[in-house]
Parts: sequence; C-alpha cells; structure tokens
Amino acid sequence: MAGIFICGLAHWPKSIGDSISQAKAAAAKAAILLARGYVTAEPIVASVDLETCIGCGICEGLCPYASIIIIRVGKKKKAETIPASCKECGICASHCPKFAISMAGFTNDQIMAQVRAFCDG
Ligand code: SF4
Ligand code: SF4
Repeated sequence: MAGIFICGLAHWPKSIGDSISQAKAAAAKAAILLARGYVTAEPIVASVDLETCIGCGICEGLCPYASIIIIRVGKKKKAETIPASCKECGICASHCPKFAISMAGFTNDQIMAQVRAFCDG
C-alpha cells in the first residue's frame, strides 16, 4: 500500500548523527518491502450493493484512485469497485445518495453506533 517512512528532521529536530541512523533504518524498512516483490492489500475496501446502486456515477467521479467504475449490468448502469487499487478512504461510501457502498469492517450501522457513542459520551 502507499505510504512513506518519516525520518531525520522530518520527524523532529535532531542531530545529524541521529538523522543518519534513522534514515538508514527507514531505508532498510523500505528495502524489506521492495525485496518481497509484492504488497499485501488491506481488506478494508469498498464494495457496492448492486441491488441498491442506481448507477448515478457520483462515486466514480469522486474516487481519487480510479478504483470505482460504472459498468453495464444488463440494461442498467452499476458501480463496481477495483479492490486491488482501493485505498480505503471511504469518500465514495460517504457520498453515495443510496447508501449502496459499504466499507468492509465499517458498516453504516457500525459507524452510526460510533457517532452515537461519541455524542452520548
Ligand atoms: S454513488 Fe452510489 S448509487 Fe451512485 S453509482 Fe455509486 S454506488 Fe451507485
Ligand atoms: S474507498 Fe476511496 S479509494 Fe476505495 S473506491 Fe471508494 S473512493 Fe475509491
């Protein structure tokens, strides 16, 4: 998955020696990922309920990673996600007028329960 390793003065003010040590550690961490030759995607991706989707295309236009596309299913248009490139940002799910998109592990019911708990607490 996309990401960065922060080290040196990007972290906080520190000596040259500490910055160099941290930079070497960051490079070693990055090398581990590169040497493996593949990355494992997080399973928290968006999925579309085709029965509820009306094919309006709002989600497709908003996804910053082009991970959701409109396809034809029979005579209707429906949204379809591309799990391998989905970055789990949730923008599509939060803008769908039909609540047809859900994020694995973060269903609408679960999120509303968190909001209610926050407001009550
Ligand atoms: S925003 Fe919702 S209803 Fe519209 S195409 Fe996307 S999933 Fe379907
Ligand atoms: S969760 Fe984010 S990256 Fe994934 S399909 Fe929706 S908008 Fe795109």
